[in-house]
Amino acid sequence: MLEVENIQVVYDNAIEALRNTSFQVEPGSITALLGSNGAGKSTVLKSISGTLYPENGRVRSGIIRFDGQELAQLMPDVIVRLGIAQVPEGRRLFIELTVEENLLIGGYTRSRGECTETLEEIYELFPRLREKRGAVAGYLSGGEQQMVAIGRALMARPKLLMLDEPSLGIAPVIVRDIYKAIVELNRSRGMTILLVEQDAALAIKTAGYAYVMENGRVVLDGSGEDLSKNE
Ligand code: ADP
Ligand code: ADP
Repeated sequence: MLEVENIQVVYDNAIEALRNTSFQVEPGSITALLGSNGAGKSTVLKSISGTLYPENGRVRSGIIRFDGQELAQLMPDVIVRLGIAQVPEGRRLFIELTVEENLLIGGYTRSRGECTETLEEIYELFPRLREKRGAVAGYLSGGEQQMVAIGRALMARPKLLMLDEPSLGIAPVIVRDIYKAIVELNRSRGMTILLVEQDAALAIKTAGYAYVMENGRVVLDGSGEDLSKNE
């Protein structure tokens, strides 16, 4: 479904964030990208979603192909229309807008009728968001904000959902709910998931396949089972 081949990314200040990074995401899988802080995981997701540009990074070379289509030269909204949505690091909500307003913004590529239907599905997945639909996003807990960020990405009805550290700074009980929802999206709704996590143990339990990054390179890959034996 997604093939990343030998990509090199350099930021303006000459930091080489990715050096020949390669991996693939099989359709229907939950694939994890692991590795310590600074390894290059977020840069990988931003390269795929086309959102490096505002952060002054560039994909210098290599190939990113989604269902046969080359992505590296496309704008973010085109990539969303092709079926890739990203839950960014730090959530990045509009903190002065309500939960429902934040969700609807995620549906910008789709019609009003389609959005109403998807909104209902998101409220089924996260009943807490239905209760809080009129609340201002800035006043929610971290876990609730993470649910809004995931819901906003789901509004685009992606084939591939990419999540950047969904567990970061969130209470363990809520992390469990969020991971349950991720598994539900994969199993019942057939969504392919690319998951970035610093918490390797947590991600390996959920992912069928994982890649471990270090210094802008993939240094290890294997099934979740294989990697948990290695740890
Ligand atoms: P190659 O060595 O050809 O680059 P990989 O090391 O990426 O291939 O993958 C080896 C095997 O693991 C493949 O046969 C593939 O089916 C499986 N695999 C690789 N990536 C994933 C993934 N994201 N999800 C599920 N299976 C995968
Ligand atoms: P990870 O997600 O694994 O923590 P990142 O992709 O965020 O890693 O970072 C990879 C490298 O790129 C790090 O050395 C980081 O400091 C650098 N980097 C990330 N974002 C930027 C940016 N916007 N400008 C300059 N350097 C950056």
